[in-house]
Amino acid sequence: MDSLSKKLLVLQDIELKLRDLRDPRYIETFGHVDEERIKALEEAKEKLEAEIPKDKLNLFKSLMKMHGRAVAIVIEGDTCSNCFAKLPVGVQPPGPDEIVQCNICGLILYFDN
Ligand SMILES: [Zn+2]
Repeated sequence: MDSLSKKLLVLQDIELKLRDLRDPRYIETFGHVDEERIKALEEAKEKLEAEIPKDKLNLFKSLMKMHGRAVAIVIEGDTCSNCFAKLPVGVQPPGPDEIVQCNICGLILYFDN
């Protein structure tokens, strides 16, 4: 079972792919809307969203709306990949059903290992 932050990272990936597929520039480049792929992604999104607690999903959605992203990967063990702020000393990877947000940019942090 994936942790909550992993699920949110995957959900973000789906959202970004959907955004690209619906981008007028994509459609202009490829000459068509990839309806089949959009449908498959929408289904995957729906399934994943059902596994995420409502309050966390709402947070995810508002971050997506505000910043265009909601999840940042922690790089070099202690740095937010979105704003490059160092995390405060003592910030630990969250439990499987919890999330930690960057104290500077507010994005949900995904710890890679
Ligand atoms: Zn940050």
